[in-house]
Amino acid sequence: MIVTDNHMHLYNHLRLKALKQFKQAGGTHVFLISLLSHHYGIFPKKGEDFKDIFEEHLKLVGKGNQIVGCYAVLSVHPAEITVIGQKLGYDSAAEIMKDALELAARYVAEGKAVAIKSGRPHYEVSDYVWKLSNEVLQHAFSVARDVDCPVQIHTESFTIEGMAEIAKLADKEGLKREKVVKHFAPPAVEEMEEIGLFPSVIASGDNVLKAAQKSSRFLVETDYIDDAKRPGSVLGPKTVPRKIKELVEAGYEDVAYKICVENPEKIYGIEIDQ
Ligand SMILES: [Zn+2]
Repeated sequence: MIVTDNHMHLYNHLRLKALKQFKQAGGTHVFLISLLSHHYGIFPKKGEDFKDIFEEHLKLVGKGNQIVGCYAVLSVHPAEITVIGQKLGYDSAAEIMKDALELAARYVAEGKAVAIKSGRPHYEVSDYVWKLSNEVLQHAFSVARDVDCPVQIHTESFTIEGMAEIAKLADKEGLKREKVVKHFAPPAVEEMEEIGLFPSVIASGDNVLKAAQKSSRFLVETDYIDDAKRPGSVLGPKTVPRKIKELVEAGYEDVAYKICVENPEKIYGIEIDQ
């Protein structure tokens, strides 16, 4: 059986051992997302400075690929606007982030990564920083359209208005709404289908079962961060395999297949080996 986690990080805690745990629990495929620049001890002064981050991430994904099927997602985290902006000014930060997104898209074009990640801050920011963040996000949609890849988005908490606003930004750049994957989504799968964005449901509590009772149009994730200071956060690496097992036991085998195989294949334009 194929079991796919749509959003996981490897950082400074279990590293590749997390993938071994995932595999032991029944996991087969995972999308690994690069972290913020400071996680790599890098302070980017220009977009090209993300190259070292992306290269390091791709190396890790290569190693992970020997354990389970791993796909690379290259992230320019929305919180970089604050990290970089506090030192270099917010306008410069936005420009650096846009350039870094273009760099990420080049890796996608070369077939080294399957998606980019962008978004807008999940915490309170000034109106000006919010405006810049939306411009960065819109730029992510533009470069994703050019290389025909999805954008995982990290955003403020889910609201219909917020998601609809983001959908319109995608429209402006001609990126299909379903190519915008809302990371850390609640099981509001019907609402998301109406808006058109694609939800990656966080596998906490009975979210996965709740989502499956309504639709099969979603992905599932742990957002495992692999941070030694917060081990097991957000959810441990064995969570998705467990939840998928529960889903199958509850009679939703077809939904499990859809969310672990067909949906990722369609969204990311990949073929999942079985
Ligand atoms: Zn994450």
